[in-house]
Amino acid sequence: MQLPPISFEFFPPQTPEGAEKLTAVRQRLATLKPEFFSCTFGAGGSTQDRTLETIRLMHAEGHQAAPHLSCVGSTRDNIRSLLFTYKDMGIKRIVALRGDLPSGMASIGEFQYANELVSFIRAQTGEHFHIEVAAYPEFHPQANSAREDMLNFKRKIHAGANSAITQYFYNADAYFRYVDETHKLGVTAPIVPGIMPIMRYSQLARFSDMCGAEIPRWMRKTMEGYGDDVESVQAFGLDIVTKLCEKLIAGGAPSLHFYTLNQSKASLEILNRLGYR
Ligand code: FAD
Repeated sequence: MQLPPISFEFFPPQTPEGAEKLTAVRQRLATLKPEFFSCTFGAGGSTQDRTLETIRLMHAEGHQAAPHLSCVGSTRDNIRSLLFTYKDMGIKRIVALRGDLPSGMASIGEFQYANELVSFIRAQTGEHFHIEVAAYPEFHPQANSAREDMLNFKRKIHAGANSAITQYFYNADAYFRYVDETHKLGVTAPIVPGIMPIMRYSQLARFSDMCGAEIPRWMRKTMEGYGDDVESVQAFGLDIVTKLCEKLIAGGAPSLHFYTLNQSKASLEILNRLGYR
């Protein structure tokens, strides 16, 4: 089996201890020679400085570092300033998102949707950045319809995005169908599956309810049945997610992007089982 490139996503640590732990996580994951490491960005700018700091650190360590940039609640001036900071640092890849307005934040700011951010990045910095956008094989929770969501996705690609990373999913058919359907709409950019290893069921269920990713009933029931037996949940998760990755690779996924939640163990184990060394 030909193994595709991989990438890993982190969130910016909140404490010096978290930062130290993340450095160790990065070192372990770097042994698998990922294409890049990305770092999330709190919509409304809540983690702006910590994202920048984490990106600076990863870049200084010699890794390809890709900041996420969410535009909701922000201004053109603010985004422009960040773009040029990243460009001057030598960053070449950006994950461009709308984000979700944090509760209590009243103003949507100067960008409404991610396609506007993609156009703005291209207008300000030309072809400097490789731009990734988000894709939703099970559809975005606010989408009016599946078709409209795919047309909105196409809008981001046509605004100048080079490729996409998906929301996580556990149903490979949803991904393959999404790739086929968007292809029929004229999207040829690579759509990279986002992979969420399973560490704790309660945490996964909470995330999934928020972001509209489906945990199939049979998986929910199995994990609920394990109760507090974390080891069984994790063993089940490793099995399920490894099989999912095998299907995705066999079906031609161009790359795999791991949501690490700043942990290396599960991603490493899955990738080892797949044959990455
Ligand atoms: P958009 O593409 O703008 O879509 C949002 C909704 O609006 C969709 O329902 C879409 O169908 C609709 N829509 C889009 N364009 C239009 C239009 N022109 N007219 C009408 N409707 C439209 N969030 C963060 O805050 N920080 C992060 O770092 C972060 N990283 C992420 C990484 C990945 C890979 C993914 C998949 C998600 C990430 N998110 C992050 C979450 C993301 O910000 C949310 O899912 C958010 O709700 C939508 O962002 P988007 O960029 O997909 O928005």
